[in-house]
Amino acid sequence: MIDIHSHILPGVDDGAKSIEDSLEMARMAVSEGIHKIIATPHHMNGKYENRKQDIIHRVADLNAALKAEAVPLDVLPGQETRIYGEILKDYELEEIITLNDGGKFLFIELPSAHVPRYTEQLLSDIQFERLTPIIVHPERNQELIQNPDLLYKFVNNGTLTQVTAASVSGAFGKNIQKFSMQLIESNQTHFISSDAHNITSRSFKMNEAFDVIEKKFSVDYVDLFLANAELLVEGKTVYKEVPEKIKKKKFLGIF
Ligand code: FE
Repeated sequence: MIDIHSHILPGVDDGAKSIEDSLEMARMAVSEGIHKIIATPHHMNGKYENRKQDIIHRVADLNAALKAEAVPLDVLPGQETRIYGEILKDYELEEIITLNDGGKFLFIELPSAHVPRYTEQLLSDIQFERLTPIIVHPERNQELIQNPDLLYKFVNNGTLTQVTAASVSGAFGKNIQKFSMQLIESNQTHFISSDAHNITSRSFKMNEAFDVIEKKFSVDYVDLFLANAELLVEGKTVYKEVPEKIKKKKFLGIF
């Protein structure tokens, strides 16, 4: 299994604090069946800045440590970039890195409470540059929860999304779990990944999430998400079904 969103790099953000933390997270990832993981440290979120070259070097260091400890996990470079107006300019300046440095998929994090007005235009500008934006954990954004048609518009225009495994498993509460299931059902999400920060309060939960998805929908959904993570790492086109608007009230009483 491939996990495309994690904070496993030591000492760069609110994820692993030390190399020991990173190794613990790596061992837990392997025990969950993860063999490749993209390290996506926060960038430009008001607290942390992690630029492309630095991330590449730190990923190499972590891979060397994993090899020395015989932990069978391959770490790939990535970045979780908070949305801001100069993203494309800074991509040109090689401060922003695409997932697995493949020059194709760009993680975009929205602020947790709202969606900036320029988001739609920026997502379109990113695609004009032949990059594919992936909005991370839209299910945790307050404005999108209240106005899901806004996310539908982004997805319908070619933006992809990543839902966090712990949201599906219910660790962030019923509302976020419900919205996650609605996004999956309406073909508005393309990846499930951990966004793991540690081995306790924010761990992987990938198998828990896939169990929930298989029970609620079918194993085909699980297979699609597993395949998409592989396609992304290989820089290929991922599977997507035509998105639908979320039908109101459909899930009432189920979660
Ligand atoms: Fe994250």
